[in-house]
Amino acid sequence: MRFSQPATARQINRLRVLNLVLAEGQLSRADIARILDLNKPSTSEIVESLIAEHLLEEQGKTITTNGRRPTALSLNSSASLVLGVDIASHTTSFSLSDLKGNILRFERLPNPPQPSPKEHGQQIIRTCMKLVKLAKSPVSGIVVSIAGIIDEEQQTLLSHDYWSWKNVPLAKAIEVNTKIPTIMVNNVEAMVVAERWFASEKENSFFFVNWAEHINAALVDGTTIKAQGSRFGHLPLASTGLCRCGNIGCLETLASGWALGERHQGTGVKQLAQSTDKLVVEDLRSACQAMAMALIAASSITGCRKILLAGGISNLDDSYLGIVQSFFKEHAHHQLSQISIVRSGLSEQSAVLGSVAVALDRWVFQRSLLETMSRLQ
Ligand SMILES: [Zn+2]
Repeated sequence: MRFSQPATARQINRLRVLNLVLAEGQLSRADIARILDLNKPSTSEIVESLIAEHLLEEQGKTITTNGRRPTALSLNSSASLVLGVDIASHTTSFSLSDLKGNILRFERLPNPPQPSPKEHGQQIIRTCMKLVKLAKSPVSGIVVSIAGIIDEEQQTLLSHDYWSWKNVPLAKAIEVNTKIPTIMVNNVEAMVVAERWFASEKENSFFFVNWAEHINAALVDGTTIKAQGSRFGHLPLASTGLCRCGNIGCLETLASGWALGERHQGTGVKQLAQSTDKLVVEDLRSACQAMAMALIAASSITGCRKILLAGGISNLDDSYLGIVQSFFKEHAHHQLSQISIVRSGLSEQSAVLGSVAVALDRWVFQRSLLETMSRLQ
């Protein structure tokens, strides 16, 4: 891609330098110029401006074999912060993070059942304002992740997957009250971004499932992540069992956290997994087989090469993942048997880190923008 305006090219190179230093830790100006194929004057200019912004700091001299001792540069991770808000089924989590994704402050609020957008929204805004006030460095931006469909400006929730929330301009309201740029993202899309950001997921194309209280999925192909409007949890697999969506026999009636809880007196999935009761063990086994069946359908249609499982139920004992894997191998078309089914590298942190990863990308590093540009080249 050619840049007609030098200012734009400089902005792109500024982001490339920032991302490189984040990835490599310590580098000299000469390293940066060599790795990014930039000339020395523009490298110096970019580095000086990043030092002036306090994003880079000089770390003394590095030792080299040829006797020269160039100054090492590293990211000043506390120069600015981001705030990630994850509105999950039962709780809303707030994570104030530095530029390396270290969570400096964490708060969790319980969600009332079927929360009202006004009251719960106000509580979220108040908590954001409090955390921004407590932050010791400027907050670059806020990202709210939520299960639902978001408008194009990424400021309004058009509809929620399970609550009756419609056209709720929550990100706009947070932005007005905190005076900090804020966007909303679909929670499963955010989890995929976290997988790449924090667990260094390298596979280009994969099918991602959030297997928790509810079941959602995203189809990932390069920089495209399609999760909004996916109804993976409502794939019909059985002839009985009323789903919360009103249909019969959805995957969620067989394998979701809410359905397992309902069948076993409200017991959480983690406790169920500890149980030696035959009925419970058999039910968890059936849940894993139902998930495997749905994954066979998903991979048959999408042609994905890898399946990544995240969420509370995917983090149960290894033996449950084993049931999913072996059922899949046994029943999928032989050409699909090479597909690997693995767990998220972030285990329990996956959902909470989603909004943080999107915030770091959107408000500071813009890595997804750089990747999109390099694919267009
Ligand atoms: Zn359903």
